[in-house]
Amino acid sequence: MLEKIQSLRADIDELNLRLLQLLSERGEVAKRIGALQTASGASQYDPVREQAMLDALVAANEGPFDDATVKSLFKQVFQASMQVGQAQQKQSYLTSRSAKASDTVVDVRGTLIGSKHSPVLVAGPCAIESAEQVDAVARHLADRGVKLFRGGAFKPRTDPYSFQGLGEAGLVLGREAADRYDLAFVSEIMSTTDLPLFEEYVDVLQIGARNMQNFNLLKAVGRSRKPVLLKRGLAATIEEWLMAAEYLLHEGNPNVILCERGIRTYERYTRNTLDVSAVALAKLESHLPVLVDVTHSGGRRDLLVQLTKAGLAVGADGIMVEVHPNPAVALSDQKQQIDFPAFDAYLADTGYHTKLSEKRVELYGF
Ligand code: PEP
Ligand code: MN
Repeated sequence: MLEKIQSLRADIDELNLRLLQLLSERGEVAKRIGALQTASGASQYDPVREQAMLDALVAANEGPFDDATVKSLFKQVFQASMQVGQAQQKQSYLTSRSAKASDTVVDVRGTLIGSKHSPVLVAGPCAIESAEQVDAVARHLADRGVKLFRGGAFKPRTDPYSFQGLGEAGLVLGREAADRYDLAFVSEIMSTTDLPLFEEYVDVLQIGARNMQNFNLLKAVGRSRKPVLLKRGLAATIEEWLMAAEYLLHEGNPNVILCERGIRTYERYTRNTLDVSAVALAKLESHLPVLVDVTHSGGRRDLLVQLTKAGLAVGADGIMVEVHPNPAVALSDQKQQIDFPAFDAYLADTGYHTKLSEKRVELYGF
């Protein structure tokens, strides 16, 4: 009796191995289907096909398992196979670490952003308002070692009656000031039709939060080879943000820098909520450099230092901050921009300026 059981158990062991082999073979085929579906843009889940497979299995079922059991066993198999296919799909995203393990380093006119390079500071006014204003800011920043100058010429404003930016004239002023002080110029592009202008005047194409899912803009900018600063949308998930970056990479532009700028939450004490975990996660999931915009995320001058430290502590590759000669009369973001003395105090309080040339490891002890 005991011998008989032992011999049957040996049969079971052998059948287990055969089942495993068949399941593995099935998984490999599912992976190949997943790769083909990814390439053709088709969805992995096909409920009609799944129902047809279950019907065929039930029709062929001769026991001893009842139909419901057969269905539930195979549903598990289908799900496991689909997960294999999906993992395959995820791995193929160009922004993912599995597609490229090493950190991307973006070269902006000789300033290297990403990986172990020192965190950069992107500073400048919210909007370019006049020749005097832009010159004063650019001079002050360049004097303190800043290399990347920001300033909006085309402004995405919530209120259509508020200052919309100087347009092309603003780009010209920004370019001239940047050249005068040997700075790289970062400015937001809102429309595909402006791309030739931006190609001429800017060093970094900024895609604003409100345009993060403007797919035509992403495609057009993706065909450029200029570095891109991609802000996270006001209420975008991390996945949506990375997908937006995927558009840029897919079109052939590898020079993408992500920028967390706070997301909309129920909190009213801050303009937006800085999502520090998104910064850390974006760096884990993707190989792209990540900046933190401390001005728009908090919307408060009294948080700039703390948010800067928080951003750098979770691995940000740089910080964006808005600076204006006289924020009280600024044509946009009056409440958030800081004046020159406040900027100098900010540099001193964050330790950013004096240590700008040092490695992150020395800066923050990790
Ligand atoms: C900006 O940086 O000028 C800006 C408009 O920011 P955001 O797109 O993040 O709101
Ligand atoms: Mn602003």
